[in-house]
Amino acid sequence: MKQKQVILFGAPGAGKGSQAKYLVKEFGFKHLSTGDILRAEVKKGTELGKRIAIKIDKGELVNDQLILELLKANLDLQQDSYIFDGYPRNIAQAETLCKELLHGSDVVAIYFEIDVQVLVERIVNRLVCPDCQAIYNRVSHPPKVGLICDYCSSPLYQRPDDNEETVINRMKLFHEVTSPVLNFFKERGKLHVVDASQDFDNIRAEIRSIIESV
Ligand code: ADP
Repeated sequence: MKQKQVILFGAPGAGKGSQAKYLVKEFGFKHLSTGDILRAEVKKGTELGKRIAIKIDKGELVNDQLILELLKANLDLQQDSYIFDGYPRNIAQAETLCKELLHGSDVVAIYFEIDVQVLVERIVNRLVCPDCQAIYNRVSHPPKVGLICDYCSSPLYQRPDDNEETVINRMKLFHEVTSPVLNFFKERGKLHVVDASQDFDNIRAEIRSIIESV
C-alpha cells in the first residue's frame, strides 16, 4: 500500500515539532525529527556526535550524506507513514528524498508561514524535555511546576543552540538555503501553507483538514 508522508516545513521555532507530536497522537504517524536524531547521537558522546555538536552549536547544517545515512537507519517509508520535521532542509536533500527515499509514497508538504521577529523571541524562550522531548515556552506555554516536565517530571533545559547569536545564523540559513525547497514542492503541486502565527489549536485544525483532504 502507498504510504502518506507529511513534511512540516518552516523556519526554526515555527512550531513544527509541537504540531508533529500532536499528529503522531491523532493520526498514528511516526515522528521523524532530524534534529532529535542528531541530538541523540550527540548525547551518546561518540566521535561522530562530537562533530555533529560543533555544527549544531554554530547553527550550521550537518552534511547531507550523514543525514541520509541516519535517515536510512531510522526509516521504513514502504512500511510506515512519517511526519518529517526538519528534513529536507536544502534542495539537494529534497531531491534525495524524492529519488532515494520516497519509493512512490504520496507526499504532502506543509509550510509554517510566520514573521522572523516573532520566531527569535519564541526560540530564546523555548525549553525542552530531554527525556520525552515535550516543548515549552517560558512566556506562552510554561510548565505547570517550576522547570519540570508536566509529563515525565524531568528537569527541562534550554537547547545550547537556542541562543540569540545562533538563532540569527539559523534564520539566515533558512532564508538562503531552506526556503528554495518551498518552490520545489510548489512546482510539484504538493505545497500547502498555514499561518503559523495563530494559536496552537487553530494551526492544528488547519493541518488536520489539509491531511484529511489529500
Ligand atoms: P530547528 O527547527 O529549531 O532549527 P532542529 O531540531 O530541526 O531545530 O535542528 C537543529 C539543528 O540540527 C540545525 O540547526 C542543524 O544544525 C541540524 N539539522 C537538523 N536537521 C538537519 C538536516 N536535515 N540537514 C542538516 N542539518 C540538520
